[in-house]
Amino acid sequence: MYTYGPVPSRRLGRSLGVSPIPPKTCSYSCVYCQLGRTNRLTSERKSFFPKEDIFSEIRNQTASSEVDFITFVGDGEPTLSADLGWLIKMCKKHTSKSIAVITNGSLLHRPDVRSDLLEADIVLPTFDAGNAEIFKRINRPHGEINFDVMLQGQIDFRSEFKGQIWLEVMLVHGLNDTEEALNDTKKAVEQINPDRIYITTPIRPPAESWVKPPQPEGIIRAQEILGKTFTVTDNEAGGFGLGSFTNAREAILEIGSRHPLRQEQALEIENVFSELGTSQKLLKEQELVIIPYNKTKYLLPTHFIRSR
Ligand code: SF4
Repeated sequence: MYTYGPVPSRRLGRSLGVSPIPPKTCSYSCVYCQLGRTNRLTSERKSFFPKEDIFSEIRNQTASSEVDFITFVGDGEPTLSADLGWLIKMCKKHTSKSIAVITNGSLLHRPDVRSDLLEADIVLPTFDAGNAEIFKRINRPHGEINFDVMLQGQIDFRSEFKGQIWLEVMLVHGLNDTEEALNDTKKAVEQINPDRIYITTPIRPPAESWVKPPQPEGIIRAQEILGKTFTVTDNEAGGFGLGSFTNAREAILEIGSRHPLRQEQALEIENVFSELGTSQKLLKEQELVIIPYNKTKYLLPTHFIRSR
């Protein structure tokens, strides 16, 4: 399946996620990534799957479920797909949905990537670090990507793109939440001039167990230094679109591979299918494991953990 959801998104309402790339394929291997460490670290764009199949699934899903946004997000970096521009154009032409692209922004220095994104309504690039050293430590980019080129790509995209740019700064305690780091981020962000800046914090189990969310004072410091920002530190609210699943087991394992589930979210899925006790059974069968993070218990499929 190339699509998932609609899932409740903290910024985009009910969002139909579309992944045009294989799992864990990315140009970064961020220390906070909820997918775990990147398996395929690459900066090479290619066509990974038949684009017609991806679009056909998007059409079916948007026809059968309530969706606010079609969101190209990927189980990794969606701009690595050479079909992204075609897919966005087809969605604009054949559906009435708004289009968002969640990207790490690392390939925006490429004219073909900037051109592919022009018809999107909202692009949400990552921007976690204002200098090369923190960029390397937090995002762990592919060797061909360097900070100055990445920053210039984001600046160039701003000058060409007419839609909304919502920049996302993920704060990690002790890494990019110090005064010095945030002042550097501020200088770089001013050059990009996004429509909005979102401050987010790692809320799901990260790739590296030492990653911690910032203390409240770190968030306040970021708000003060970065100026007008939106802060998203709470869990998303709302149910998952379950129309493409036939039972709770399938839904919990599939959604959990892309979007680590809190225990109460798994319970909501069991309720929808009237299959109470499914997650307990999956835990006994060792198909699921509990990963505690930040005072919350998450259920992750075992195969997902093995590949982390
Ligand atoms: S958080 Fe996003 S950009 Fe970072 S490694 Fe994960 S998928 Fe890639």
